[in-house]
Amino acid sequence: MKNIKDYNLEELKQELIKLGEKAFRAEQIFKWIYQENVTSFDEMTNLSLELREKLKKEYTLCIYKIIKKQESEDGTKKYLFDVLDGNAIETVLMEYHHGYSICVSSQIGCKMGCKFCASTGINFIRNLSSGEILEQILAVERDANIKISNIVFMGIGEPLDNYNNVINAIKIINNPKGLNIGARHISISTSGLVPKIYDLASENLQCTLSISLHATTDEKRSAMMPVNNSYNIETLMKACKDYIEKTNKRISFEYALAKDNNDNIEDAKRLVKLLKGMICHVNLIPINKIENGEYTKSTNENIIKFRDYLNAHGIVATIRRELGSDIDAACGQLRRKNLNN
Ligand code: SF4
Repeated sequence: MKNIKDYNLEELKQELIKLGEKAFRAEQIFKWIYQENVTSFDEMTNLSLELREKLKKEYTLCIYKIIKKQESEDGTKKYLFDVLDGNAIETVLMEYHHGYSICVSSQIGCKMGCKFCASTGINFIRNLSSGEILEQILAVERDANIKISNIVFMGIGEPLDNYNNVINAIKIINNPKGLNIGARHISISTSGLVPKIYDLASENLQCTLSISLHATTDEKRSAMMPVNNSYNIETLMKACKDYIEKTNKRISFEYALAKDNNDNIEDAKRLVKLLKGMICHVNLIPINKIENGEYTKSTNENIIKFRDYLNAHGIVATIRRELGSDIDAACGQLRRKNLNN
């Protein structure tokens, strides 16, 4: 059955016309799904009984079941959802002073094989559809009885490897008749799929682009992130400069600090050189140790020194708050544990 959440508003209007209905019905359905967050077509009470029956025959609302939920002392909640085909995905809800932020998965598994990531041990199974991406947000809003204000594509999967579905989901998130979340509150994180960064630059979206950089030499970066063998640091930086030029948007560079690997002052110096003149921000992440992972967390002293060096040399850098560190906070960990049990 077709997932009704896979359609953006224009596409849904076409679907309704095909069903012999008026296009404006799509706006009513959008409101029920994204603003009222209903879980059945029967709740769409301003639609005729006949239309509700037609919808039930043609579409599913793809309502996720929660397999497991972990709650951290700081309020971070990690969900493991059953995506209704025997597979499971993770979604994380975080509370900040400015509201609720959600970290969504874009694929089941991941092809990229970053060495510091818990998803690495999990094979790529398939892309999530737009509707499956959106249902993560809706399911969390229903469960926690809240309204999400920020969305981060930083869960399992490489969002730019599922480009069309992610862009379509963003259009629905962004639509005032959909989830009505401004593009400035949406962030896409990539391991560095250069051709897709060029594509994203021409989409004219106002989302924040976040690049997982993590190292300043090709040798170190390729050891951590195999994607660097296809698109090295120089190629990646060129694409980032093009992105900034076309969008006039600041890029956020993620840099996970691993002890005795990429956390010394020489690395900081190279980072300053790489980012000089770019409108950007560096997000320093104390790396999460994963089972069998070869990287361990840098010392607090080194993390602070690294940040101070960047700030003193004109690169704005902050240390990411470690949310949910008492639960399995690295992406893929909850899912992996559950699969192993
Ligand atoms: S860090 Fe992201 S891109 Fe890299 S393997 Fe993990 S999920 Fe994939």
